[in-house]
Amino acid sequence: MSADRCVFCQIVAGELPSTMIAEEERAVAFMDINPATPGHLLVVPRDHAQDVFSVAADDLAACASLAQRMACLVRDRLGADGVNLLQSSGAAAWQTVFHLHVHVIPRYAGDPLRL
Ligand code: 5GP
Ligand code: ZN
Repeated sequence: MSADRCVFCQIVAGELPSTMIAEEERAVAFMDINPATPGHLLVVPRDHAQDVFSVAADDLAACASLAQRMACLVRDRLGADGVNLLQSSGAAAWQTVFHLHVHVIPRYAGDPLRL
């Protein structure tokens, strides 16, 4: 069963370990396994959707709302000076996990990350 499910579906289902930060009705947020900056989070819909082209509008809205909440969290709890919200859809856009996700990337004044 789980072998048929994508990695983020398995994380949502609790079948793969993750550091879960927020769990809402339609979306969850967990730490990225390979953070671009300290506190890098991913927000994903609970229901599988491959990308922005196919996700249900209410799931996309739930992700946007949770991403905003996580942006405030990294500002208030981690002292981030700014945040990048990034969503990549399609291999040409460098999407590597084909379950829609929004990156919440905390930015710190002078940090070296170039997107
Ligand atoms: P993409 O390149 O598709 O926009 O981003 C995929 C993100 O998922 C990457 O930042 C990568 O580090 C993260 N990722 C891939 N596999 C896992 C995993 O098993 N667990 C977690 N927490 N993050 C993952
Ligand atoms: Zn999935």
